Amino acid sequence: MLYRLKNDFRLSIVTLLSVSAIIGITPFAIMRFLDGNMVAGFIDFGILSAVASSLVYAWVTGDTYRSGMFLAFVSCSGAVVVAMAIGEEGLFWLYPCLVTTFFLAPSQVAAILNLSSVLIMMTIESAYSSSVQMWTFVISATIVSACSYVFARRNKDQRERLEHLATIDPLTGVKNRRSMDEELDQAAANAERTGLPYALIMLDLDHFKEINDVYGHGVGDKVLRDLVGLIEDYTRLSDQLFRFGGEEFVLLLPGVDGEGLKMVVYNLQKELRKRLKSPGGRVTSSFGVAMLCHGESVTSWLARADQALYKAKKSGRDQVVFAEVTDQGCVSLA
Ligand code: GH3
Ligand code: MG
Ligand code: MG
Repeated sequence: MLYRLKNDFRLSIVTLLSVSAIIGITPFAIMRFLDGNMVAGFIDFGILSAVASSLVYAWVTGDTYRSGMFLAFVSCSGAVVVAMAIGEEGLFWLYPCLVTTFFLAPSQVAAILNLSSVLIMMTIESAYSSSVQMWTFVISATIVSACSYVFARRNKDQRERLEHLATIDPLTGVKNRRSMDEELDQAAANAERTGLPYALIMLDLDHFKEINDVYGHGVGDKVLRDLVGLIEDYTRLSDQLFRFGGEEFVLLLPGVDGEGLKMVVYNLQKELRKRLKSPGGRVTSSFGVAMLCHGESVTSWLARADQALYKAKKSGRDQVVFAEVTDQGCVSLA
C-alpha cells in the first residue's frame, strides 16, 4: 500500500484529497442533520459518497486518470452546490478544490472546472454582503487557481524529467537496465495471463574494446549509437531494446516464436553485419536467444539468454545461439 502511494503520484493526490474531504466534511454533514438543515446535510452526504466511491475505484482498478477527473468534478460542483445551499460560509470550500484540480485532472479540464465554478459562484447573490466581497472572492480564487496551475505544471515537468533520467540511457537514448527489469517482469506476468510467447535476444558487439583502444572512445560511442539505430530500423515498434550494460543490449520481442523468431534474429544479424561499421571495417555481433518458458522466472530467462550468448562468443563470435530446451521444457537456471 505504501509502495503504491510512493510510486503513483496521482493515486497519492486522490487518496489525500478523498481522505481529507471525508474527515473534513463528515462533522459538517452530521452537524447539518442535527441542526435540521436536511438539504445541506444530504448534499454533504452525496459529496461524501461520491468521494469515497472514487477513492475505492482508484485503489481497486488503478485507474487514477478517471477517478482524478471525477474527483475534480465532484469537488468543484459540490463546493458550488454547497455555496448555493448555505451562502457565504459555503464559499470557502471552493479554495481546496481550486488547488487540487490541477493535480487531479489535465490542465485544460482543471482550468475549465475552476473558471466555471468561480463564474457560477459569482452569480449566487445571497452569498455576498457587498459587491466588494464578491470581487474579493473572485480575484482571490483566480490567484489561487493561477498559482496552483504553475505549481502543478512545474511538478509534472520535473517528474517527467526525473523519470527520463532514471530510465533512459543518455548515450543511446534506449531504456536502461533498470527499466528492463520492470518490462521483463511485466512481460512474464502477461505471458502467464495471456499465453503470449515472448523471446529475448541478448546481443554483444565483438571485439569492441579494440575499437575504443585503436580509434578512441568517441568512435566507440558512435558505433553504439549506430547499432541502436540499426536495431530499431530492423525490428518492430512493439519490440523493446534495452542497454544491459557497456556494449551489451537486450531485445524483448513479444508474440514471436519458432520460425518467426529465427527469421528475425538471422535478418538482424545479416543487416548488422552489412551495415555496422567502424573506421577499421565491419563490426560483428554475437547473439544469445531464449524463449520465455512456462512458469519461468525472469532471472532464469535472462540467465539462459546470457549462457547462449556466452556459447556464441566461445564458438568464435559473430554467431547466433538459441538457448537449449529439453524434452521436459526449459532447464531453469534460477
Ligand atoms: P568480446 O568480443 O568478447 O565481447 O570482446 P569485447 O572487446 O567486445 O568485450 P570487453 O568486455 O572486453 O570490452 C567491452 C568494452 O566496452 C570495454 C569498455 O571500455 C567498452 N565500453 C563500455 N561502455 C562503453 C561506452 O559507453 N562507450 C564506449 N566507447 N565504450 C564502452
Ligand atoms: Mg563485446
Ligand atoms: Mg560485453
